[in-house]
Order: sequence, then C-alpha cells, then structure tokens
Amino acid sequence: MTIRGRLSRAGLVALCSISAPAWSADQVLNLYSARHYQTDEALYSDFEKATGIKINRIEGVDDQLIERIRSEGANSPADVFLTVDAARLQYADMLDLFAPVKSAVLEQRIPANLRTPNWFAFSIRARLIVYNKMLAKKEDLQTYEDLANPRLKGKICTISGNYPYNLSLGAALLAHDGEAATEAWVKGFVANFARAPKGGDTDQLMSVGAGECAVTVSNSYYYARLMRSSNPKDRKVAESLAIVWPNQSTWGTHINVSGGGMLKNAPHKEAALKFLEYLASDSAQTYFADGNNEWPVVRTAKFKDPALKGLGEFKQDELPLGTIAKNVIQAQKIYDRAGFM
Ligand code: FE
Repeated sequence: MTIRGRLSRAGLVALCSISAPAWSADQVLNLYSARHYQTDEALYSDFEKATGIKINRIEGVDDQLIERIRSEGANSPADVFLTVDAARLQYADMLDLFAPVKSAVLEQRIPANLRTPNWFAFSIRARLIVYNKMLAKKEDLQTYEDLANPRLKGKICTISGNYPYNLSLGAALLAHDGEAATEAWVKGFVANFARAPKGGDTDQLMSVGAGECAVTVSNSYYYARLMRSSNPKDRKVAESLAIVWPNQSTWGTHINVSGGGMLKNAPHKEAALKFLEYLASDSAQTYFADGNNEWPVVRTAKFKDPALKGLGEFKQDELPLGTIAKNVIQAQKIYDRAGFM
C-alpha cells in the first residue's frame, strides 16, 4: 500500500468508529471495466476500505465499453476505463476519451515505456511462440521473423490479423525491422498458414496440441491457463506443447499490456486519480496481475502465480507502448495488403 493509502485507511478507521459508513455522492468511482476475474473482488474492496470511495463497476466487452463511453459523451458517468491491449487503449485515446494525467506516483512506479501521458499499463503479457514438441523444432522458432521462413510451410495456425494482439505485434515488428521487412515478413507468415485464421489464442493452442498445425503465437496467459487448468485434458494439451521466448538474442519478446486511464469527462477526477495510483501499489499489482496470470508492471510487486513462476525469466522488448500504439494503423494496412485478415 502507498503511504497515501495507509493514511487514508487510518483516517477511514477513525471515521467508521464514530458513525456507520455511508457513501456520500462524491465518494464514488464509476469504473468501466473489461476485466472480470475473481481476484478483482479483493482488488476493489481493498481500495474501498482504504479510501472510503465506493466503486460502481460496469463490466462489459472491450469494444462495446469504448462505444458506450463515446456515445455517452459529456454526460458519461465513467471515471476510469480499464481494458486490455495497447492497440485498444490507443483506439480509445484516438477517440479522445482519456484525460491527461500527471502523477508523480504513477511516473515513479510504472516504467516509462509502459505508460503514455493519457493511459497506463498495469500488467504485462508476452506474445509467445508455442509449438507441438513432436511436430516442430525449437531451433527453427527462435524469432518472430523465423515464422516467415518457408521451412514452416503449412505449419502455422493463428488468430486473425485484425485482432489487436496481432496488430500490436505487427506494430512492434514495424518499429524494429522497418516497413519493407515487415511487409515481406507478413507475406511469408501468411504463406505458412495451415488454414485460414479463425478462433482465439486458446483455439490455436488446442489445434497445435491436436497436431492440426505445429506452431502458433499466443498470449502467455492462455498457455498459463492451460497449465493451471482443473481439467486434465487441458493439462495434457499443455504437456504436448513447448514455448519459445522469441527474439531473446535480438530485441526481446513482444509484450502487451492491460491498462487504463482517467476519462476526459470523469465526474470524479480526484477519485479516479486515487484509483489509478492505487492500481500501481504493490498489493494491487499482485491482485491485478495474478487475476489473469500476468506479470506486474511495478518491479517491486510480488506475484504468487505458480504458472508464471514456472515460465521463468525472459528479456522483454522495451519499445515504448506509445510507439506500438502509433504503428498499429500502418500494421493493419500491411496485413490487409498481405491478406492477413
Ligand atoms: Fe486475451
């Protein structure tokens, strides 16, 4: 907990001993969230206990929440928006939904590459190369660039190129390899598909496990979910798979984030700022990250997740999220031209 949090909690305890808790109108935070994990209950109730600010949560699907905030306009009750993927956060920012936030706490705790002036990352996921141990060799899969090698012809399954996860990866490739190389890469990648893109990352992991294809790229938490599943069939699939941390000897493994920011029309800006700062506290970081098998952005925060511990350490791409966000539209154009849809 931050020092501010400790002080507020002490203040709240004093207050509660005098009178029964009652939420006053300005002690409220309206949170629009695309998160819905069990550990989030503790995440929110700790904030309420520490600050006396009641969280009203509206949960929904990412793009629908963005649309809702946009259509509510100046009358939107939303104070904070939480969602996943830099491409999606950037989309919300492009629609001018976020307010700029200046906070010494956030600047000090969140690494510079994981924040922008308008929105902040609170957890990290990595985009892994995952392969079937019987059907592919690790040495052929050392980098994202390797996935365009003709030796992998007919071996790759993937989600659509329109999906934010893949657009953000394309945006990172653009930043590191340049436009011409990225365009050539996408063509080679598409030429290696075992089938047209369909489904989500978990579907690809299942297909690789079943031998319908040999290789995919997947967000780390989907793989971690299979490893931790209570269903023995899922764990069996996970056992047939192996992972590669791509680009360890070059620019590092592409990471993406979940995050959020204060909304431009937030009625409770002070509460919104307190909440964002709270999300960067060590204890909140643990809840936030463990809720979806992700890594905290704050380096001092501990994670308990056994699946993450099992995955071990890796070199992350340190490209600023702002650069990824900026390149997403160009990545989409290149994907469209290459027929990666
Ligand atoms: Fe996901």
